[in-house]
Amino acid sequence: MSSKVLAGPPVLRFAPSPNGLLHLGHAYSALCNERVAEELNGRLLLRIEDLDRTRCKPRYEAAIADDLAWLGLRFEAPARRQSEHAGDYAAALDALAAQDLVYPCFCSRAEVARASSGRDPDGAPLYSGACRALSASQAAARIERGEKRASRLDMGRAIDRVPARLFWREFGEGSTPVAEAAEPERWGDIVLSGRDLAASYHLSVTVDDALQGVTDVVRGRDLIAATSVHRLLQELLDLPAPGYRHHRLVLDLDGTKLAKRRHSPSLAKFRACGVSPAAIRAALGFGDGDSGGLAVALS
Ligand code: GLU
Repeated sequence: MSSKVLAGPPVLRFAPSPNGLLHLGHAYSALCNERVAEELNGRLLLRIEDLDRTRCKPRYEAAIADDLAWLGLRFEAPARRQSEHAGDYAAALDALAAQDLVYPCFCSRAEVARASSGRDPDGAPLYSGACRALSASQAAARIERGEKRASRLDMGRAIDRVPARLFWREFGEGSTPVAEAAEPERWGDIVLSGRDLAASYHLSVTVDDALQGVTDVVRGRDLIAATSVHRLLQELLDLPAPGYRHHRLVLDLDGTKLAKRRHSPSLAKFRACGVSPAAIRAALGFGDGDSGGLAVALS
């Protein structure tokens, strides 16, 4: 466990990415955040995770605001927009680099895939570490030539740097935490900043949770493996460790989790079809309204 203790009222955050329309899975996550905030008498913040400039669009950010207001969810204003905070991520990257834990990687996506011998917990190819072997002068020459690069964490070295096995407090959807052991080694040398990305998901979310004073992270179980990396980064950057509440996922009709890229029905669509926010809340297990026949499976 981290030795740092967070003082003050509990702070929760909902952190959608404006790269598509919100669906029932997002509604469930936002409502879980609202419920925990109410139970703990905490603050509820909104964070717009818009660092991926190719996929994130202002119209989706506007749709997020509409959908959340329609559902009756209230967040403290203003929301934190990640694209406005590149300096915070750069400072964290510098702090890791100062510990000699960062190296430049010039490999393209295809090269990473070709040389990979395994998969990370998200199913993406594990990085072989090819660029870790470059000397400082070789890397400097390639940077000089204007080659695009990412920054990667030297995972082996980073794990050696923390004093002991790391754990986090995992509540799931309950109220009693268990100590969950972090396994950051499963992720290999993760990207910290990308060729066209100010900071990766792992780095930005860890920095933001700390800067926003988040005490309780409520998010889907699909992100539970990522928490191993976040705990490691917290330790390396001397940041506090929140408690984590990874909740069940809303399933699609075919039993897989909802996803924007598979065009799962959006909240906007339900709204356009005359479904009420109370029905959405009821179908997801919140409130005692009538779900109007809307049935939802969670797993
Ligand atoms: N932005 C992420 C998503 O939309 C959530 C990140 C998090 O809650 O840590 O899936």
